[in-house]
Amino acid sequence: MLNEKEIPHIPERIQGIVELAHNLWWTWHPQARRLFRALDYEAWRESTHNPVLMLRLIRPERFAEVAQDPQFLALYDQVLAEYRRDLERVGPSLPGPIAYFCAEFGVHVSLPLYAGGLGILAGDTLKEASDLALPLVGVGLIYSQGYVTQRIREDGWPEDVHQRLLDHGAHPLVPVRTAEGEPLVLAVPGFDPPLRVQVFQARIGRVPLFLLTTDVEGNAPWDRAISQQLYTTDLEQRLKQEWVLGVGGMRALEALGIRPAVLHLNEGHPAFALLERLRQLLAAGLPFEKALEKTRATTVFTTHTPLPTGTDIFPFALLDRFLTPYCQAHGLPREALLELGTNPKDPGAGFNMTVFALRLSRHANAVSQRHREVAQRIWSGVRFRDEEVRLEAITNGVHLFTWIEPLRVQRLLDKYLGPEWRERPDDPGVWERVWDIPDEELWAVHMDRKEALIAELAARARKRWQEGAPAANVLALGSLLDPNVLTLGFARRFTAYKRPDLLLYDPERLRRIVTNPLRPVQIIFAGKAHPADLEGKRLIQKVFRLAKDPAFAGRIAFVEEYDQHLARFLVAGVDVWVNTPLPPLEASGTSGMKASVNGVPHLSILDGWWLEGYTGENGWAFGGEEVPGDRAPADAAALYRLLEETIIPLYYDRGPDGIPHGFVRVMKEAIRTVAPRFSSRRMLKEYLERLYRPAAQAWAEGG
Ligand SMILES: *Cc1c(COP(=O)(O)O)cnc(C)c1O
Repeated sequence: MLNEKEIPHIPERIQGIVELAHNLWWTWHPQARRLFRALDYEAWRESTHNPVLMLRLIRPERFAEVAQDPQFLALYDQVLAEYRRDLERVGPSLPGPIAYFCAEFGVHVSLPLYAGGLGILAGDTLKEASDLALPLVGVGLIYSQGYVTQRIREDGWPEDVHQRLLDHGAHPLVPVRTAEGEPLVLAVPGFDPPLRVQVFQARIGRVPLFLLTTDVEGNAPWDRAISQQLYTTDLEQRLKQEWVLGVGGMRALEALGIRPAVLHLNEGHPAFALLERLRQLLAAGLPFEKALEKTRATTVFTTHTPLPTGTDIFPFALLDRFLTPYCQAHGLPREALLELGTNPKDPGAGFNMTVFALRLSRHANAVSQRHREVAQRIWSGVRFRDEEVRLEAITNGVHLFTWIEPLRVQRLLDKYLGPEWRERPDDPGVWERVWDIPDEELWAVHMDRKEALIAELAARARKRWQEGAPAANVLALGSLLDPNVLTLGFARRFTAYKRPDLLLYDPERLRRIVTNPLRPVQIIFAGKAHPADLEGKRLIQKVFRLAKDPAFAGRIAFVEEYDQHLARFLVAGVDVWVNTPLPPLEASGTSGMKASVNGVPHLSILDGWWLEGYTGENGWAFGGEEVPGDRAPADAAALYRLLEETIIPLYYDRGPDGIPHGFVRVMKEAIRTVAPRFSSRRMLKEYLERLYRPAAQAWAEGG
């Protein structure tokens, strides 16, 4: 945790660098990144691009030096001016702020409070809210051990290493203080004695992200551990986490004097926030029925999974330990609340967080068109009074300034699309200018990013070799990759429904494809499995064994420790991005969007966002038809056929200039069609107009 005292003395002239280092705004503004690099390149590298840590590593003399350097000062002034301008912009006006609750936030790799897609989406949303100057605050939890770190054993089994996050750390978190200057520590009800929860803040541009921890002095050791691990499998611990997130999160906002007009529950985990919303409305004098109506009218809920097993269900008896004292203390009707969380299709199962959230949010959505249909079917029969729960579809998008590679690809866009692509990233007209980029320039930029990816993987493999990893493991980590070979990327959470082994369905056919002497193919895999997902771990082992098998000639790699940092290298550095989930289980998927906007076309089964994104010319699709029974044989055959008959020939069909013009055409179509429609700009504007505004209106109307 940052201790302000530990930062060495910084000359007044460049004091702004401290604020800049503590605002994650720098992560999507390349000129701020340049500034940190110019400040002290070695410390920048040594801190693995973590400016907060970097400030503590720099020699004090260095600050004095740069404070005299006109070139540094010019850059400093320019970045600070832009930062301040950005923070002061006027945005859409609403009757009150939106409180955006989520169990995970993936803003930057230096703040490891996420596991996967949900957290990255939440992080992208906060950055976009800042860009749009939307009045929004984030609420989440600090996990003192972050998420697991992955190490592959000699036999291919992935081991999970839990790391202490906060003790050694320099993270862009600062304690929130009371008016008296004391650290803000709340007492969360439902526990006996009440649980102490401390509130920290990270700044994401204009948007504050409030993060809660139970690792506070005065709590019993087992209570301090409540917020230790993301998605713990211990049901009781998990219930406590979600209680802290929802109830504690609302109390934190109250203590800060923030009265949200709208609650946005991103997935079911934070749904206990609704209890606090009800309590506050009762305390303000509304009768329970009215409080229920008002809570409902001002809540937005987003479901992210079509798997009924993906929702948290707590045994009634377990929940009662917290709910009963809470209801007694605040005059809430326990029976009615339990009823609201009961799934009519499975009333004995327990308290269903998704059902509770669905009943109490008039503005609920799924994350793609297909997902809306599927989720509507799953939750049919869930009613509030006589009203069937209705879901809308708002398809996910990605934050372009985070995911379009900044050094080369963003500069290429600046050159040919002009400043408009930064001002109006969701305007399809702006992206028509992608056609003005000469093929050879786009190809040169792409090859540069591919070489950067392969160099990064080699550096990681070298480090593991130095640490004593077995030689065969070092090869399997990607040491033999070749930038001239068509490269497929597959990186995401490893779990059964994502079918990371579909490409491996016919190992002999795959071997022939990757070892073809004239037109070889290589595949880079990466991804973690949830610690309790043994099937997911078995899938990693399956891929890793193939990567180590000499028959595949080092053309299959499995890279450890998939996180946001590695993801950024991969989505810009491979040639084709592959996705093979079992339909209709991919709610949306976002990694294919990240790849497409970098000119890395998507090869995917028709599911999730790709049903909306695929145009016939901006990538490749298969598996649109329904297949009864086991569909893996048909899907694998279609995938191999597309590779053998279409993609490989297209990639290796070079003009006299050595450039695959046909392939580059698909790259351009991918950027042109995906960037505007699947940007977080388009997404958040839809949330604003379709969900936030009506909900905020209901808040303003009173009653
Ligand atoms: C984008 C992203 C994901 C989500 O990937 P999907 O293919 O949509 O499941 C997961 N993890 C990281 C690190 C990501 O950047």
